[in-house]
Amino acid sequence: MSHENSALLPAVRSFLSAPKRLLIGGEWVDAKDGRTFATVNPSTEEVLVQVAYGSAVDVDRAVVAARTAFESPSPWSKMTPRERSHLLWRIGDLIEAHADEFAQLEALDNGKRVEAARDGDVATSAELFRYFAGWATKMEGTTIPMSVPGRAFHAYTRREPIGVVAGIVPWNFPLLMACFKIIPAITAGNTVILKPAEQTPLTALRLGELLLEAGVPAGVVNIVPGFGDTGAALVAHPGVDKVAFTGSTEVGKKIAAAAAGNLKKVSLELGGKAPNIIFNDADLDAAIAGAVLGGYFNEGQCCVNGSRLYVQRGVFDRVVEGVAAAARAIKVGDGFDPTSHMGPLVSQEQHEKVLGYIRGAVREGAVLNAGSADAVGDRGFFVAPTLITSVTERMAVQTDEIFGPVVTAVPFDTEDEVVAAANDTVYGLAAGVWSKDIGTAHRVGARLRAGTVWLNTWHADDVTLPRGGFKQSGWGRELGSFGLDDYTELKTVIAELR
Ligand code: NAD
Repeated sequence: MSHENSALLPAVRSFLSAPKRLLIGGEWVDAKDGRTFATVNPSTEEVLVQVAYGSAVDVDRAVVAARTAFESPSPWSKMTPRERSHLLWRIGDLIEAHADEFAQLEALDNGKRVEAARDGDVATSAELFRYFAGWATKMEGTTIPMSVPGRAFHAYTRREPIGVVAGIVPWNFPLLMACFKIIPAITAGNTVILKPAEQTPLTALRLGELLLEAGVPAGVVNIVPGFGDTGAALVAHPGVDKVAFTGSTEVGKKIAAAAAGNLKKVSLELGGKAPNIIFNDADLDAAIAGAVLGGYFNEGQCCVNGSRLYVQRGVFDRVVEGVAAAARAIKVGDGFDPTSHMGPLVSQEQHEKVLGYIRGAVREGAVLNAGSADAVGDRGFFVAPTLITSVTERMAVQTDEIFGPVVTAVPFDTEDEVVAAANDTVYGLAAGVWSKDIGTAHRVGARLRAGTVWLNTWHADDVTLPRGGFKQSGWGRELGSFGLDDYTELKTVIAELR
């Protein structure tokens, strides 16, 4: 680990002082075959710590532990909804009490700024536990009338947990994504096996420690870090009842196919390539600020980022100049440096991929209005926020999810033209419209094929709001009251009143 970082809290140093293990059945254990992998600080390229690499054997052990914890009469199955509610609230409090520690660990492992991690990822994770604590006691069913002449019935529905849930998550919001999977699953009474991303396993493992401290019974949440093969072993396992996945559309398709073995339930939160549409009559200061936030938030590594900017011709030059100037003013640097506005990308692989897209666009004749096709600095995976114009709709930079700080800007003339271009993508995760005319904003918003539509704002969000994708951006919805549906089975009970 980095010893030169004097800002590190003693708790963080202590956490990184020994190899990290798997959490199975309430115990921290080594991988059966003893394998480990290194997790790296993307600002310095230094190894932070070795982490146990779960294999199919470890996945099997975790499934056994999760099944044992789930099946009645386990302590978990006997816990009342109110007890579950209190437990969830307690975990939220614990996360808040350790917020600085989580923020530092996230900044070390992912690269993002410490403040961004603390005020965003960590604060929202604590809030999510509290929000779902409220739902634990409100998982209600309905009574439904039946009409059978001469006979009397009482029919009602119950919402019951599905069983063993595998949560597989990416690296862009490591703690938050772990919470997105664990919290609704345990709120509904399921048990969980979490597979963090190989690039960023640390905050999920620290969360595992707090879950035990809070009193989550053994086996209710198991954490098995590893790579794609670890995730694939979970998806293939007949003892897993549901897979909740966030990641790329490419892997999402593999998961949908592999889950067919025992027809496990599948929810998928996948990629995006969100169109951000600015009309001539928009509040330009707000729209430019929204385009910058939408394009570069989280180092551009956010599935709902507005990476395709469409600007009506009358304001195109002003918006391009405004976004380019703001992009050039963003200081890229170590997430621990309080003067940095943006950290590095998460990994060397991501660094090469993003720079490759920028270089490809330049080769094909696109223009860089801000940013560069070269890395920033000679250490760490830094990329300058980039704005690209003179792109065609078929260039890779315009069609592919890049997942880096790269925004393209394209002019348009009419509403029909921009709606067609905006919807001309396999993705449908997010979209946005900027116009002072509420008719235009709502009408265009309704025509955009995306799970989230922002009108005159970007990234405005709350734990109460459902999110998910149209088209190849996913199956199902997460968070809000809708977010529990995918973690429950609905049972219909019919009693004859004799
Ligand atoms: P990824 O699909 O490569 O990996 C995601 C997770 O899946 C990792 O934990 C990985 O180890 C695991 N995995 C890889 N191959 C697997 C397999 N065959 N079976 C099971 N698991 C496997 O994605 P990534 O590069 O880590 O993350 C970036 C992607 O995540 C982007 O496409 C982004 O849009 C998406 N994302 C979506 C949302 C959303 O809410 N829709 C949120 C964040 C990220």
